[in-house]
Amino acid sequence: MRYLVTGGAGYIGSHIVLALLDAGHEIEIIDNLSTGHRKVVPSAARLHEVDLRDGAALAPIVGAHRWDGVFHLAALSIVGESMRDPLHYLEHNLTSSLNLIRSCTQHGVRKLVFSSTAALFGGPDRHDAITEDAAIIPGSAYGESKFFIERILYWADQVHGLRSACLRYFNAAGADPDGRAGEDHKPETHLIPLALDAMLHRRPALQIFGTDYETPDGTCIRDYTHVSDIAAAHICVLDVLDQRSVAYNLGTGTGHSNLDVLKSIARVSGRDVPWHAAERRAGDPPMLVADATSFTRDTGWTPRYAAIDQIIETALAWRTRHPDGYGDAASQVDVAGVMRR
Ligand code: UDP
Repeated sequence: MRYLVTGGAGYIGSHIVLALLDAGHEIEIIDNLSTGHRKVVPSAARLHEVDLRDGAALAPIVGAHRWDGVFHLAALSIVGESMRDPLHYLEHNLTSSLNLIRSCTQHGVRKLVFSSTAALFGGPDRHDAITEDAAIIPGSAYGESKFFIERILYWADQVHGLRSACLRYFNAAGADPDGRAGEDHKPETHLIPLALDAMLHRRPALQIFGTDYETPDGTCIRDYTHVSDIAAAHICVLDVLDQRSVAYNLGTGTGHSNLDVLKSIARVSGRDVPWHAAERRAGDPPMLVADATSFTRDTGWTPRYAAIDQIIETALAWRTRHPDGYGDAASQVDVAGVMRR
């Protein structure tokens, strides 16, 4: 099969590309490399260095083949940043997605898997796992932009028959267990890589944003899902699209507080993470945990790396081998174009 992956040079996208190539599919990637990395693109996958907001550049790529499906991940995706410049986030994510979705409808694409988010559910305090019928109240401009795109996809199906799966990820974490890809954001804002670097004394003590939430230890709770399990979920959902469009919550169903994550790092590495309490971060909901029952029932997906310690182990292994992420000398591509271990 032949698939197009937008954002395929990014963190989650690169793991999806690996999963698709491992399954024997042909892959092309669209990525403007604003946050993605050329080095993670395997030579077996063709990279189009194109910004989705550039409709004229996008159309010939979508029109070049009869794609069996499109995976749409390219987006601005940092909650805190979206609260500093919400209109920029909305403009960027909506324009790029509208261009892509319009192009898909014009060129007969039948299936699209969309990278949606648990940030749709950021509004009120929650103390239970979140099901698909929970009220959608985005707590950030980032979450709102993803919700708008889900609605665009609804109409693309109603009017043009473009079937879509909106996968609402919770917190993607960890790295390819074979060491071929990992997490490298610049600037890094995510808890696990920052905590690992603090533990490794590569940066100052970690700030924990908010220790006065109404949670058992006062810190926010998240559902950390291994990035390779998220990648596998994208392939699992394709068959469902033969029947209908869908939206699923995708997570392990287990919540870990920020302090739980630090304890896991201490267990796995044998070293404590230095940290101190800081102000709450705008747009952060206290608790986001997925009820992924529907997804598991409909697709048979279950996470292979469900334990937080497994997630930390793979993240630590990649971080240790690539201290400067894809920028370091060790991160050269091999002949197959895939990151060396
Ligand atoms: N967090 C933190 N310190 C940091 C980075 C993150 O306390 O330096 C917290 C953040 O406030 C949230 C959790 O870690 O409660 C997960 O944040 P992350 O940015 O990793 O993912 P998000 O849930 O925003 O998608």
